[in-house]
Amino acid sequence: MTNMDTLNRFLFDNHAIRGEITHLEQTYQAILDNHIYPVAVQKVLGELLVITSLLTATLKFEGDIAVQLQGDGPLSLAVVNGNDQQQLRGVARVKSDIANNATLKEMVGNGYIVITITPKNGERYQGIVGLESDTLIGCIENYFMQSEQLPTRLFAKTGVYNNKPVAAGILLQILPGNENTSDSFEHLCTLTQTITSDELFELSTEEILYRLYNQEQVRLFETHNVTFKCSCSRERCEDSLMTLPANEIDQMLKEDGGKIDIHCDYCGKHYVFDAIDIAQIRAKQHTNYH
Ligand SMILES: [Zn+2]
Repeated sequence: MTNMDTLNRFLFDNHAIRGEITHLEQTYQAILDNHIYPVAVQKVLGELLVITSLLTATLKFEGDIAVQLQGDGPLSLAVVNGNDQQQLRGVARVKSDIANNATLKEMVGNGYIVITITPKNGERYQGIVGLESDTLIGCIENYFMQSEQLPTRLFAKTGVYNNKPVAAGILLQILPGNENTSDSFEHLCTLTQTITSDELFELSTEEILYRLYNQEQVRLFETHNVTFKCSCSRERCEDSLMTLPANEIDQMLKEDGGKIDIHCDYCGKHYVFDAIDIAQIRAKQHTNYH
């Protein structure tokens, strides 16, 4: 496979069904590089990454999607954010040991998945789905069924290929107004299910589509690159600092040896502010408001 992370859309000419396929290596690696995660959590992050990449590609507008898993188990949080430019980031919080073969329920405990869609222009939408399936993919498919959206199926695999972590997946969705084409949808889902991890990791997009659907007319659209990108910035840190009471900031400065160190959990970047920085931010804020 190429060394670029990719997302492709495709369409079946003889069925009112669309598809997407994503292959992620560097983006996955970048997320894993920032923390030391248990193996089972790495797998969860890989699946969340595939899910988020595929879901953001279904957006018909500029915006982003966050897929967040949370609960009272040892894995208290796992979240991946992505936008319509296929820029993704993710992080997990692990409170105690997690076995390599831990199930989703064992990791998350009593928990749920929150899907937040934030259009650049327009209202934010949030959907919540319980962990009623043994797999993340199953839970997301339940979400599509419960929220009466278009019939949608997802397929995801995570693993190691060429000594590097890889996450890849496929989405199939019935086009709006064609919900009665369920026979051909089931047929195409059955075909898609036969893909193995090795095939999904090693083959090119064209080869995978041929391997699965060589009896079909499939139209493959242009390739989009997928990248790791964190949306943190010094300005955002300043904004969140300024939401704190002034005396609390002064206290933080005193306790941390004259500087406040804000660490981004997603990308590992540090933003350091000393007393002079804080004075400048306050002065700037003052000019903005008066
Ligand atoms: Zn960051």
